[in-house]
Amino acid sequence: MAAKLRLEKTLFVLVVLTAVAIFGRDWLLRETFVIDPAADFNSRLYGDKNAGGTTDTELLSRSPEGFEWRCDLRSGSAYPYCGFEIFIGESRTRGIDMSDYQKVRLWLDYEGVNTSIRVFLRNFDRRYSSAADDTSTKYNQVEFAADSPQDFYEFGFDDFFVANWWLREHNIPPHLSHPQFNNLVSLEIQTGSGHMLGEHRFALRRVELVGQRYDTADWYLGIILAWAGVILGFLAYRVAVLTGEVRDRKIREQELIEVNALLDTRSRQLETLAKTDSLTGAFNRQGIEEAIKHGLWEWRHDHKPLSIVMMDVDHFKQINDTYGHSVGDIVLAGISSLVKEHIRTTDLFARWGGEEFVLVCRNTRINYAAHIAEKLRRLIAEHDFEEVGQVTASFGVAALSGKSSIEDLFQGADEALYRAKDKGRNRTEVAGGL
Ligand code: GH3
Ligand code: MG
Ligand code: MG
Repeated sequence: MAAKLRLEKTLFVLVVLTAVAIFGRDWLLRETFVIDPAADFNSRLYGDKNAGGTTDTELLSRSPEGFEWRCDLRSGSAYPYCGFEIFIGESRTRGIDMSDYQKVRLWLDYEGVNTSIRVFLRNFDRRYSSAADDTSTKYNQVEFAADSPQDFYEFGFDDFFVANWWLREHNIPPHLSHPQFNNLVSLEIQTGSGHMLGEHRFALRRVELVGQRYDTADWYLGIILAWAGVILGFLAYRVAVLTGEVRDRKIREQELIEVNALLDTRSRQLETLAKTDSLTGAFNRQGIEEAIKHGLWEWRHDHKPLSIVMMDVDHFKQINDTYGHSVGDIVLAGISSLVKEHIRTTDLFARWGGEEFVLVCRNTRINYAAHIAEKLRRLIAEHDFEEVGQVTASFGVAALSGKSSIEDLFQGADEALYRAKDKGRNRTEVAGGL
């Protein structure tokens, strides 16, 4: 929830930033080059003397308030003129790239016989300019009437054209004849093309060249790329989070499986424990009950034979009396483990009580059960029990037959066992005189 809100906040901030970047583009990207008289720009005042004229020029003042000059345009040359040039580049050949600039603003006061004034933005380009010839620097020109009392005069770079006389004098080919602003070395204010003789006074307070830091298309491309970056970053983050979540969930599922398996094993252990005799590890009466129920069901439905073998340790009282009760216990446990090792997995060995045991043999005919009993009898008789030495047991075998009940079954086995005892012990007797 908190993460979601954070995402929404971030998105909101990004949208606001995008709106600012789009709607505040002009303001954000604006770059202004200022020609401030207080700053250290080189300048020169010139007249038409080189062209054979007699125009008189005079620099009146140069102060933080502006450049002030006057000229008296006199006849003499074909085109009398005077002008003031301010150098904005590092040198006469190394200027400033203002190709992305759009406007020039002039704070200029003029008094005189003619209001027409020319402004030149001079561009140096080795394809047509040479350092030795000042006039070879391109004259990007605009001419305007300085008669409206206004704050400043503004011209677009689009308004500039290249002076015709310059193109002619320097034999500029058409492909180089367009206005160029990529290497501006100076700005000039000159009397207009009307060449009106007489007094002209100028006061230039300030010039601003207004441009743009980045191209508009680049700016929008930047915004789009920034968004693409943000979205990619966000997707990468989500993928990382989801991968982590999936891994965590898998780990938790695995843990759950392990815990369940543990509980399963434990509950099976408890179940077994409930059916097991603690001393001998054989099943107890509850265990027998289940096996008998099972066997009975198989007998009734599938006609599978069910046999049981009753076993009673011979003269066990004597063992107890001779070696003590705890040794008797050890013998009982020993007999039990010996028997369990030698029976089939389908046979169920259980303690019936005291030193009596029962072996429930499902799907087993009586003669085979008798064979098992004999095998076990021999096994016990031939075993050497620690401390006690030889121990024997007697066996009685019975099977379900006809309409006999479980009670009949156990009674039959019991009777057979008694017969075995009667006949001298350490032997196997089968019910029904088989
Ligand atoms: P037989 O069966 O050959 O006729 O002689 P027996 O000595 O085994 O006779 P009986 O079955 O009467 O005696 C069983 C003895 O087993 C009596 C009892 O003290 C002993 N007993 C019963 N349960 C345990 C037991 O859990 N541990 C020990 N140590 N002795 C037990
Ligand atoms: Mg007994
Ligand atoms: Mg006995």
